Amino acid sequence: MRNFLLLLAIILMPSCKPQKNTSGFAKNVVVAHRGAWKAQNLPENSIAALKHAIALKCTGSEFDVMMTSDDILVVNHDADYEGMLIAETPYAHLAEHKLSNGETLPTLREYILAGLENNTSTRLVCEIKPAETVERGRKMAEKAEQLVKELNAEDMTVYISFDYDILKKIEELNPKAHTQYLKGEKAPEQLKADGIDGADYHFNTFKKHPEWIESAKKLGIVLNAWTVNDPADMDWLLEEGFDYITTNEPELLLEKIKTR
Ligand code: MG
Repeated sequence: MRNFLLLLAIILMPSCKPQKNTSGFAKNVVVAHRGAWKAQNLPENSIAALKHAIALKCTGSEFDVMMTSDDILVVNHDADYEGMLIAETPYAHLAEHKLSNGETLPTLREYILAGLENNTSTRLVCEIKPAETVERGRKMAEKAEQLVKELNAEDMTVYISFDYDILKKIEELNPKAHTQYLKGEKAPEQLKADGIDGADYHFNTFKKHPEWIESAKKLGIVLNAWTVNDPADMDWLLEEGFDYITTNEPELLLEKIKTR
């Protein structure tokens, strides 16, 4: 009997093995768009908004990256900051003007360092903004990838961009990097062929191309949608099994998931 039980245990063992835990990221789909700023009345893309997304345990916090005239990567959505064009102004000059919460315009280095502090749950979703020229875009990709590597943030980072060439440059530099394309005119088959890992499209694109949801799942292309603030759209994307949903209302989406 004892031998029999031992044999049984050995046979059953593989299925009893604990599942390999590949990451400690929060098991939800919520990506805070430009950080979790809205409900707290924080500036978009501020370190405070990133910290709040981490405190909420969103699975990701998105932010936008631009490059100054002296080649410093900074976190800001618009091409201009306080009336100055970022691409044509040195960082020191931009930094003279504070964000509305008193923060200095964050460099990408400061932003990533803040994002690594006491954070194992929230991915850093880094949007590299298209540049004036292809060369400048590639330079931004190189500098961002280099910085992420230097700060040992590779596993924490997801790169997104409207510029396909920027994502391909990131993949060329590090094929293990996780990249998602934003523009929405490419089918999942094309992304797969080019080594891009995800389709992060406007939710209406997926309404126009519902077949892309199925083909993405089949091909292992990660599904993300922006910028989803309406509860009915959230419900639809949750129903469709999206991996990520990017929103200005992370609290609302987190609440919705809890009650599903
Ligand atoms: Mg963005």
